[in-house]
Amino acid sequence: MLLRHTPKEITERTALAINPAKTCQPIGAMYAALGIHGCLPHSHGSQGCCAYHRSTLTRHYKEPISAASSSFTEGASVFGGQANLLQAINNIFTVYKPDVIAVHTTCLSETIGDDLKQIRKKAITEGKIPEGKYVIGASTPSYVGSHVTGFSTMVKSMTEFAESTGKKNGKVNIIPGWVEPADMAEIKRMAKLTGVDSIVFPDTSGVLDAPLTGEYKMFPDGGTTVEELKSSGDSVGTLALGEWCSAAAARELDKLHKVPCKVLDMPFGLKATDRFVDALRTIAGVTVSDELAYERGQLVDLISDMHQYFYHKKVAIAGDPDQLIAMTEFLVSIDMLPVHIITGTPGKKFEERIREITADMPCEVNVKAKGDLFLLHQWMKNDPVDLLICNSYGKYMARDEDVPLVRWGFPILDRQCHQYFPTVGYKGGLRLLEKILDRLLDRKERDDPEPKFELVL
Ligand code: SF4
Repeated sequence: MLLRHTPKEITERTALAINPAKTCQPIGAMYAALGIHGCLPHSHGSQGCCAYHRSTLTRHYKEPISAASSSFTEGASVFGGQANLLQAINNIFTVYKPDVIAVHTTCLSETIGDDLKQIRKKAITEGKIPEGKYVIGASTPSYVGSHVTGFSTMVKSMTEFAESTGKKNGKVNIIPGWVEPADMAEIKRMAKLTGVDSIVFPDTSGVLDAPLTGEYKMFPDGGTTVEELKSSGDSVGTLALGEWCSAAAARELDKLHKVPCKVLDMPFGLKATDRFVDALRTIAGVTVSDELAYERGQLVDLISDMHQYFYHKKVAIAGDPDQLIAMTEFLVSIDMLPVHIITGTPGKKFEERIREITADMPCEVNVKAKGDLFLLHQWMKNDPVDLLICNSYGKYMARDEDVPLVRWGFPILDRQCHQYFPTVGYKGGLRLLEKILDRLLDRKERDDPEPKFELVL
């Protein structure tokens, strides 16, 4: 019993999080920055923060994550880190030659009061940013928000590149949110199949799922280019996938460059994918392509084949708001019962959306934003479930409660391949169903007595 001190009795807590269902803002900012081609993320704080953020991303994506640090010591911690950042900008452009440095702050630099905009201005005045190179910044102290808000803030700062020439480029911006590199590739594929010329940002496909070729590239081929980001101000519209991850950037583009935006759920599962495809189809003014219609039919077929195993199975889920909203809707649509749902990211709207989606379920639902895994575990003790869907941190609860675990979300530190197989779209739906059913049937076979241990299930 690894979590043997988790009691069944629930006590109201306001000031203390135990086993948080979130991580630092800068991790999200760092991941988003890696989705710009030729970009080096820079952590404005101590080396310890940067090492932690890099190692978490490295452990999830199984790729070395390059990032620089302002390397605060006692002096910068007391007097501010301006001198460190100016020196860092100079060193990075001289040694590593990125197109963009994406700076994010940490608890330390925010507490001392460093002003990124002012420091960048000084760097420009002092000629430390070469012609055709860029520095963008995001304020991401970890004593507020979560990795999700850090991601969103860095994506919003990418809109600084956008320019409007007065002539529309006929393209559609798609802001995919924090999904896997393979998901970003899948979103691009679906847009292409619908005949939509898209600018996807950020885009970590080809960056964090790049092949091993024997040749080291400091900056892999993938990522949204600066030219594409500039052109995003001339696009005919923006589709933002996820209120928490993507809406802020889409609304900023609307405000600055009059690019109309539509905020959709992330396309996990049948219904959310239908809405995404419908939005693409409407923008392109076409009917749904035969390929996508075919893939949708395959997902519907699989749902009907598997339904008998899913019916009224209880599920606990933890993760990030945009992913959880779409996943909850998917589970409800296949007649599973998501009864305990928790995110560590703040946001009352999250609880409202989940309540709407689960309104017709024949049982009580526990939902909490800014919650923690300790509370989720307590809920599971009081109302046991058949399945847990969570990142790697869920394995302790799964083991203690003897519940099968589907690893999904961020971070996944103890399994591989999640960056290669999409879980968005119709094809991604097949993968999600396969993962869920495999866990349920593996458990059934483990528990079945020999007379019931059948070859055909
Ligand atoms: S919580 Fe703050 S100080 Fe700690 S690692 Fe995250 S950014 Fe650094």
